[in-house]
Amino acid sequence: MQEVRTRFAPSPTGYLHIGGLRTALYAYLFAKQNGGKFILRIEDTDLERYVDGAVQIIYDTLKDAGLKYDEGPDVGGEYGPYIQSERKDIYLKYAQKLIESGDAYYCFCDKERLEKIHREGATKYDKHCLKLSKEEIAERLARGDKYVIRQNIPESGTTTYTDMVFGDITVDCKDLEDNILIKSDGMPTYNFANVIDDHLMKINYVIRGVEYLSSTPKYNLLYKAFGWEIPHYMHLQPIMKDATRKLSKRYGDASYEDFIKRGFLKQAVINYIALLGWSPKNDREKFTLEEMVQLFSVSGLSKSASIFDENKMKWLNSLYVKEMTPEEFCAYADKFINKFDYLKGYDRRLLCELLQNRIEIFDDIGPMTDFINHFDGYDLGLFENKKWKTTPDLAKVMLPGLIELTETQFDYLHDALVKFGEDNGYKKGQVLWIYRIAVTGTQSTPGGAVEMARLFGKDETLKRLSYSLKRLG
Ligand code: GLU
Repeated sequence: MQEVRTRFAPSPTGYLHIGGLRTALYAYLFAKQNGGKFILRIEDTDLERYVDGAVQIIYDTLKDAGLKYDEGPDVGGEYGPYIQSERKDIYLKYAQKLIESGDAYYCFCDKERLEKIHREGATKYDKHCLKLSKEEIAERLARGDKYVIRQNIPESGTTTYTDMVFGDITVDCKDLEDNILIKSDGMPTYNFANVIDDHLMKINYVIRGVEYLSSTPKYNLLYKAFGWEIPHYMHLQPIMKDATRKLSKRYGDASYEDFIKRGFLKQAVINYIALLGWSPKNDREKFTLEEMVQLFSVSGLSKSASIFDENKMKWLNSLYVKEMTPEEFCAYADKFINKFDYLKGYDRRLLCELLQNRIEIFDDIGPMTDFINHFDGYDLGLFENKKWKTTPDLAKVMLPGLIELTETQFDYLHDALVKFGEDNGYKKGQVLWIYRIAVTGTQSTPGGAVEMARLFGKDETLKRLSYSLKRLG
């Protein structure tokens, strides 16, 4: 069997968004599952959309996400260069072959003429320059007239192929336009370059967005014109932000980088995006990259769009967070904790222990610990708890005793609090509630009353309790 070769062919137009990364992931999974090669090609022929630094982001993201490419601009390979702008001469040479065979032609029509025919009702280019004589063409070329090279599409008949996701796709040739293959600046269009490169790079499985599904028959006509073998195709439905619009770079929808910055783990992001368009068998949802390589299946690819659900990705992330060893967690959490000066004085290990079970993403650390910094002036109404029947008045009665036992029995705080309740006729829940509010000034904390006191240490805990008593008047 022929070696499977897939490619990811992004245009460097900004950050790598989630949809692009998913295409890369599926191309990677399919290649690796079949013992094949995954290739990176940079499609930078649209100079107007080129964004500085975007190529580096692509390299970094793929590497960080674990999608190691076997060939690519920065790793080399037998079929380079892997950057389209460095292949300009190759495209021109092949376009000239098509001109010789009659499958393409020079077109000298200017903007004004094209606008005019469209104003007059034409829905596509009218093949005007196809009728130019050889002499006329030679003369205009010699004169240095500006030209493009267009594909000569048959005026009748149909073209068909079988997509691995969508099945048979048939298009009437009369509905296809004679696309530009080479632009007036000498650069190829995507419509041409993708065919030339996929062939020369021996790509036999083309995996890409569904927006190319209906132009693929046109590309196949080029393969036929050259007498080349047509690759297999897998077109992928888009990822939607909501029911009405696609997740898109244009609207600044989240990039991989942004998710990582916010404290999503790369395994979780990759795992989640794999599920956006692929349904594994038996509803399993959590996979390592290696497991996905084993389990990925074309039959599980969706024919409809998927909706990006950040909450679900957070939930998945929390599973990966819980699985980290305490050391791994602490090391990863470090830079997130360091963002907050008010967390500096606390026992790092203990803080991490409390946070690990409670955060979904590392950016939760801020909101989850913010109360530490906002103790002064907290709402005394928090002592009110329907379940435990506690009130600010009860807190006022209890606090002197709680302060005393904190002072004398801090090392056995939990037992001391329980005993305090028993001795004074309070339920354990009542004591713990009042203690927690009096120490933290909030009802949601990353740990219970005793854990929070341990985190603050004896002195600070006492200061906080005294402050609360003073406020209760
Ligand atoms: N450069 C194209 C894009 O970014 C790639 C399409 C393809 O994979 O063929 O959409």
